[in-house]
Amino acid sequence: MNSEVLVIGGGLIGSAVAHGLVSLGLKNVIVIDPDLSGEWSSSELNAGGVRGTWSQTVNLELSKASIDYFSTQAEQVGYRPCGYLWLHRQETWDAALGSREMHVRQGWPVEVLDVEGVRKRVPFIDKTSDLAGGLFGVRDGLVNPNRLKEHFREEAMRRGARFVDGAYFCGAHFSSDGKVFVEAFRFASGLSSVQKRELLSRNPSMRDEFSSEEGDWIRIEADRLVNAAGAWAPEIARRLGYSCPSQPVRRQISLFHARDLDLTPYGMIIDPSGVYFHPESIYGLSGFANPGERPGYRFDYDGDAFFEEWIWPALYERSSAFESLRHVSGWAGLYEESPDHHAIVGEAFGGSIPRGRVFEAHSFSGHGAMQSFAAGRGLAEKMVSGRYQTIDLELLSATRFRDGKSIPGETWVI
Ligand SMILES: Cc1cc2nc3c(=O)[nH]c(=O)nc-3n(C[C@H](O)[C@H](O)[C@H](O)COP(=O)(O)OP(=O)(O)OC[C@H]3O[C@@H](n4cnc5c(N)ncnc54)[C@H](O)[C@@H]3O)c2cc1C
Repeated sequence: MNSEVLVIGGGLIGSAVAHGLVSLGLKNVIVIDPDLSGEWSSSELNAGGVRGTWSQTVNLELSKASIDYFSTQAEQVGYRPCGYLWLHRQETWDAALGSREMHVRQGWPVEVLDVEGVRKRVPFIDKTSDLAGGLFGVRDGLVNPNRLKEHFREEAMRRGARFVDGAYFCGAHFSSDGKVFVEAFRFASGLSSVQKRELLSRNPSMRDEFSSEEGDWIRIEADRLVNAAGAWAPEIARRLGYSCPSQPVRRQISLFHARDLDLTPYGMIIDPSGVYFHPESIYGLSGFANPGERPGYRFDYDGDAFFEEWIWPALYERSSAFESLRHVSGWAGLYEESPDHHAIVGEAFGGSIPRGRVFEAHSFSGHGAMQSFAAGRGLAEKMVSGRYQTIDLELLSATRFRDGKSIPGETWVI
């Protein structure tokens, strides 16, 4: 196979990059992924929240442009502007109000609520003695991440992009005439859920780790590559010969049933404890980023132990409607975390890779769905015209770590 651009990883970001590239006129874009259904990918295991409420302008701009796009495709991508309510205690309130000034300056509407206002907007929040107030992002809300990914793919395929399923990137070499030769293993038949999980936890890359009974080796010639492999980006970087400072970290989500409480009129609510929740069909969905989680490719859900240690106590302290909850189920997926909690977007540098051949878009931690459209469009602009045109993403280049040009870390992370 030949391609102008080969995208490694077909999650929300890889699909959005392909969408961006073909929207700018590229004809021959290929995306490879060992599992396009994305069973263990972050894009299938996330909470679907979208918000423009950030401490750093670049994140607001990426989210704003993406949400603007989602609102034009609201039906297809399941965008619902049901709001984000951030609850604050006194110790974070002043900084939050400072960020809110930036939100409003940037054209992102955020209402300030005192404690009475919080109780009025969300009457079931009746334990408020520790609160100073809340900020309500009016256009923040939820999308359906699966439908969003399918939307990017359908649009990209309509303009000629190809998505190759069952294809696992193992390595590449760069020829002196500017081509990249990619070696991928193509599984002959669909992998089972257990096989996919095993593959994506072990990350094999040596030839003798694959058997000819399982599939064949394929070679793809490309002008340029994009590393859009999410939590697997550091593995892809290593195989390409450069280093990536991000790490995969497990994040868990619980579904619960609150008897006598209908959560459907509300959007995402973020408690000062860091526990967040929103309605999910007939249940509540709640997550928490345990700061003690060690890095690694781990997908096991801790079940009752997680729910009872982290989720339920925080919810119990916030509402008497949460005093009796039934834990229904849950799951775990991977955040890909960079040292400053910002994404890494741009040309990849370092090691043995030649200039202008390898690009990257990954390390979106807990915000890849909400920034996917603008990140894909931005990287496509950089690759096609050599510079960013809509949002300047230069500061998200990985060179910030190499050159010590740090940008302020993002603090509105959950
Ligand atoms: C629990 C949880 C909650 C979240 N909540 C939100 C939220 O509310 N809002 C939000 O915006 N974001 C949220 N996120 C983050 C969001 O899901 C991610 O930032 C986003 O999905 C990243 O997309 P991606 O395409 O970079 O990665 P992925 O979706 O993980 O895709 C990477 C792809 O690379 C493929 N791959 C791996 N190895 C190879 C290889 N060798 N060759 C080829 N392909 C390979 C994988 O199969 C995978 O399909 C959450 C994440 C988690 C885990």
